[in-house]
Amino acid sequence: MSEDNRVIDSGADDLERSQELALRPKTLKEFVGQKRVANQLDLLLAAARNRNSPADHVLLSGPPGLGKTTLAMIIASEMNAPIRITSGPAIQHAGDLASILSSLVEGEILFLDEIHRMSRPAEELLYLAMEDFRVDVIVGKGAGATAIPLELPHFTLVGATTRAGLLPSPLRDRFGFTAQLDFYEDSELSIIVKRSANLMGIKIDEPAIAELGSRSRGTPRVANRLLRRVRDYAQVHSDGNIGVTEAKAALEMYEVDAIGLDRLDLGVLEALVKRFNGGPVGISTLAMAIGEEAETIESLAEPFLVRMGFISRTPRGRIATPAGFEHLGMSAPITSTSQLGFFDTPASDA
Ligand code: ADP
Repeated sequence: MSEDNRVIDSGADDLERSQELALRPKTLKEFVGQKRVANQLDLLLAAARNRNSPADHVLLSGPPGLGKTTLAMIIASEMNAPIRITSGPAIQHAGDLASILSSLVEGEILFLDEIHRMSRPAEELLYLAMEDFRVDVIVGKGAGATAIPLELPHFTLVGATTRAGLLPSPLRDRFGFTAQLDFYEDSELSIIVKRSANLMGIKIDEPAIAELGSRSRGTPRVANRLLRRVRDYAQVHSDGNIGVTEAKAALEMYEVDAIGLDRLDLGVLEALVKRFNGGPVGISTLAMAIGEEAETIESLAEPFLVRMGFISRTPRGRIATPAGFEHLGMSAPITSTSQLGFFDTPASDA
């Protein structure tokens, strides 16, 4: 996808990842919002430092762009430990993981992004490594194969996932601390915009900061991205200073919805409202209707639409709420929610 197409989409490409590096908070104090998680982590890390031992394994879950990688890096810096970064899809074989694990140093942080996408054999190897700091290296083949235990240094695994529900419970249970990151409040996003503008030397006034904060889809990555696009606009169309006029004009140009919905969010909502008359409709049918993978909808679009109260998950499938209809300038058919007694359950693939 080109940069223009993904002004709101909360994933990041390589260029953006390098730009993000400069904006990442380095300590828990600098980390905006998620107070409960930050306080709990602070305690966990302080206790580990006092004991002079590596912290327990940490699992971070939540939609993309909310700060999972940032927190992993903060954990490393607060523990004064090196960090190794890899991801589930990069680990195809158990051997890949065994070689990473055996090259860690004592106390190192291993950040495993998209941990739910790791292969099953690697996952099983990880169980033993997390619990006993040991892997079994298989030597030889067939009946003569023997497992030689290999001691590992004590490390801290920081796993990140957009889909905690997909993690098998033996894996989930091996994390000593689990945190679910939530979408940010507009006021918190405004603080993030202000902080990033300072770091990037961008002049932006308070109303413009508030405008960006409220249109960032609850997501820090989106807030930083909108700031960069609005800066471009102000540099080309005015003196480079960002006021609310520049902010609004730029956001309109990039087709940023008034509350920050992106193309995928709107695609899901429109299909549900206009094609399926509000649902209920199963996730696979919905995915097919808009030409996306069900997994993409479930991890990228749905959490924010549910959080905004625009859609709801019921045992019979997804439905659009009256607020969802209203957001598209329509009114809900009387039957759409009252007959279903809508409630939000973990996704059923009805
Ligand atoms: P994730 O790993 O969940 O996809 P990241 O940790 O990569 O998200 O965060 C994306 C960007 O958002 C980073 O550049 C970081 O600067 C910014 N960010 C995330 N969380 C915060 C926060 N709590 N305070 C300030 N900036 C944040």
